[in-house]
Amino acid sequence: MSTSRFEVYVLGVGDTFSELHRSSALLLVCDGFHLGIDCPDMYRGALRAASERSGRSLQLSDVDTMLITHVHGDHMNGLEGVGFYKRFIDQRRLTLVSSDEVRGSIWEHRLHASMGSLWNGHEHREMGFDSYFEHVRLDWDGGIDVGPFRIQARRTIHHVPTSALLIEAAGRKLGYSSDTAFDPDLLEFLGAADVIVHETSFGPAHTPYASLAALPAELRGRMRLIHYDDSFDVASSAIAPLREGEVFTV
Ligand SMILES: [Zn+2]
Repeated sequence: MSTSRFEVYVLGVGDTFSELHRSSALLLVCDGFHLGIDCPDMYRGALRAASERSGRSLQLSDVDTMLITHVHGDHMNGLEGVGFYKRFIDQRRLTLVSSDEVRGSIWEHRLHASMGSLWNGHEHREMGFDSYFEHVRLDWDGGIDVGPFRIQARRTIHHVPTSALLIEAAGRKLGYSSDTAFDPDLLEFLGAADVIVHETSFGPAHTPYASLAALPAELRGRMRLIHYDDSFDVASSAIAPLREGEVFTV
């Protein structure tokens, strides 16, 4: 009998404006393999806070693979620091899993300005995406295997190209909406999961809580909320919100 477990560490649950929570991010662990889902600011601090709350050791050196769902800052602002840490401290490249759209803009429009040149004491050296990262393409149709994880992606309704995810490991499935407007078709895709982590936030490119609260009880029972704002009424939510530092088995 397999003793594999598919565990999820909740590194952050907040939206981009939060003064109470870290930005939304998950760390998936199975068979000793760590897969970061999104990379907000102060990533090492997020790992440390989750370590202290969960009583489990989490080190950046254990996280060599990150999936970035989209290029909004609250989902990827930590990537510069993590990329430098991997190069200078761990002396290896970070495996970056993303759609082609994210791969296309993440270096050119986000990271090149700060990571594109390094001074080695004698001269400035020009650096490229491949100096820090190894890209694994997240296909829109079909799935990919990353360590023990089988990952399927689906495009969400958001300001910029964004991947929702259906991730299978140890015979269990996790669904993650990432950022999205309310989308019944997406919910059908995510509905195959044992646990569905869904965003709720304000504005036309996010999902109102009321839309999720009106879903069938069976679906709500498998759902956990993330990306909620500081005024969200956690205590009376009809769908259990994720808490920072929580660890759960899918
Ligand atoms: Zn977003």
